[in-house]
Amino acid sequence: MRKLLKGLLACCLYMSPGLGIAQLPQIHILATGGTIASTESGMLTAEELISAVPELADVASISVENFSSIGSSRMTPELQLRLAQRVNELFAEEEIAGVVITHGTDSLEETAFFVDLLVADSRPVVFTAAQRSPRRVDTDGPRNLLNAALIVADDRSVDRGVMITLNDDIHTARFARKTHTTAVEAFQSVGSGKMGSLDEQHVYFTASKPPRINLKTTEVNSRVDLIRLVAGSDGTLVRAAVAAGARGIVLEVFGRGNVPPLVTEALREAVAAGVIVVFTSRTGDGRIVIYPEFSELGIVNGENLDGLKARMLLIAALGQSSSRDEIQDFFTSLSGY
Ligand code: ASP
Repeated sequence: MRKLLKGLLACCLYMSPGLGIAQLPQIHILATGGTIASTESGMLTAEELISAVPELADVASISVENFSSIGSSRMTPELQLRLAQRVNELFAEEEIAGVVITHGTDSLEETAFFVDLLVADSRPVVFTAAQRSPRRVDTDGPRNLLNAALIVADDRSVDRGVMITLNDDIHTARFARKTHTTAVEAFQSVGSGKMGSLDEQHVYFTASKPPRINLKTTEVNSRVDLIRLVAGSDGTLVRAAVAAGARGIVLEVFGRGNVPPLVTEALREAVAAGVIVVFTSRTGDGRIVIYPEFSELGIVNGENLDGLKARMLLIAALGQSSSRDEIQDFFTSLSGY
């Protein structure tokens, strides 16, 4: 899997108008699976994916690597950590302009955000995916893959954090959310405008760079649970999480920060047992406040992150710190508040 398959698509040199010979940027593509690669007879390899997009040869000199070949509902924090580590290795060892990662759409926003937290290099990392598989006449994969390479090859993509492109849209991992089961416009930037778009293979950016933090996580424990409050919630799920050995719990609370009394009781027990508890809003957008009874308990303010992103940040944060205050700092810094 680690084997680097250098698949140069074309000669790295091309004629740049007015400048003579110029070098195409080097882009490394990591394939992880997903609908973009799925056929009835199995997953396409990274080599097969790029051979369906000959236009890539005009954009970059491409090397490819098969990281995994799974549907992204099978993605795990352990694999996400390995992926982030692989990107860090590539930036340390290879003279590349950036990295494209092909991935399933199902957990794409979680993986892209996790990689964003762990990769400090300012060179671009762009995730792409497809809603329609490669053998369909209306597949969106080849266009999305070409767009991802165009974004990485663009000098203005530096220092923008990890991005996601589908449907000619560019989202920052921090705000991206899958909002449709089948449409090619599957992702939206919730709580922010999108980062930019592509038009006829031209990249244009319409949003400024988001706040970023960088974590040095080297191990993850995926026993961090996400619980959504609903009408009638009691302490059962919080207690079950603690009993199952949760190191952290992200609670999607009502509105601006409201929690019914039976849940509050279970939260007291969870905190007393050493579990880090983060609140985010189940509305999916907007900041929450931590009311005094919860700040006294040491509940972490998840700010304006949604539950999925807050969980990924808590997993990454717990991999490098068990200090409640340090973990709160990560959330606060990222919120831009
Ligand atoms: N099942 C697919 C996945 O791996 C869905 C997709 O890629 O669009 O997430």
